[in-house]
Amino acid sequence: MTDTEAKGARKLDGKQCAAAIREEVRTGCADLHAQHGIRPGLTVVLVGEDPASQVYVRNKEKAAKAAGMESVVLRLPPETGEDEILATVDRLNGDDSVHGILVQLPLPADVDEQKVIQRIDPDKDVDGFHPASAGRLLIGMPGFLPCTPAGIMELLKRNEIELNGKHAVVVGRSNIVGKPMALLLLREHCTVTICHSRTRDLAKVCASADILVAAVGRPGLITAEFIKPGAAVVDVGIHRITDEATCRDLFGDNPKRLKSVREKGGTLVGDVHPVDGAACAGWLSPVPGGVGPLTIAMLLKNTLVSAGNRVP
Ligand code: NDP
Repeated sequence: MTDTEAKGARKLDGKQCAAAIREEVRTGCADLHAQHGIRPGLTVVLVGEDPASQVYVRNKEKAAKAAGMESVVLRLPPETGEDEILATVDRLNGDDSVHGILVQLPLPADVDEQKVIQRIDPDKDVDGFHPASAGRLLIGMPGFLPCTPAGIMELLKRNEIELNGKHAVVVGRSNIVGKPMALLLLREHCTVTICHSRTRDLAKVCASADILVAAVGRPGLITAEFIKPGAAVVDVGIHRITDEATCRDLFGDNPKRLKSVREKGGTLVGDVHPVDGAACAGWLSPVPGGVGPLTIAMLLKNTLVSAGNRVP
């Protein structure tokens, strides 16, 4: 039994939802190849040796291969300059076998990330970070959606969470999660409130939400007073906690979590206080196993769509 199932909130199971999407993508790739001879291709550009980025990129590479895609990772040394990264993007833009280009962030400090993102052909922008993709989302044109918020929409819809006319509160206004999340909820006819670090009486605003999306980057910030009883709560945050005292603050005496800290050196927690979330919410996405797996699944889906757009 998981933490969320134990207490009452129903689980928004990202792992299961991501597996279903990945299977759909696998079938879609096979069909596209059989019918049109197109094998979707995803190329990830990784600059430097950031350990977290290396793990993310490996996972993306494996997932793309498992879906039947042509999966390539270009690993460039940390000293690679902006001009060379831009030239790499140019080459990929011109390569017809590449349908999706993803430049893994963060880039080295002396490289202008926006300049690199803007160099990607918007038709291959499977991360959905290009201003053209952001603009399309804003005005309701079809385009690539950023993977994390798009995955959250799949999670809500596949669990038949009612959105029409509901009050959705998004905590966080980043370009990759908070803002696109708010726009996608608006598109589904939610009444949307966006909160951030200057929001006054955050708990009160959150407690009025039927749907609460926490993308704050603060472990366990969303406690009981932030949650309307029965609300659907989506936890985007991912944090690794390594000390037993913090683990007890967040998970109580949960033996599995304590064991993980003692024996594996840490455990993952989101922006939602796990015990409070499980007790108050009607639906809750767990960490891990909630939003995380959906991000890669939606990257694959975007790549398949991009490849499908090549069908004459
Ligand atoms: P950012 O740091 O870019 O944005 C955080 C947002 O939260 C900002 O808008 C900030 O406000 C707001 N904020 C920070 N502190 C508070 C506070 N105390 N009260 C209210 N608002 C606050 O983070 P991201 O959007 O990139 O990511 C958010 C979280 O989601 C992180 O934990 C990240 O690791 C995780 N994440 C998970 C993914 C997944 O696949 N599961 C993918 C992407 C992110 P302001 O704008 O005023 O500074």
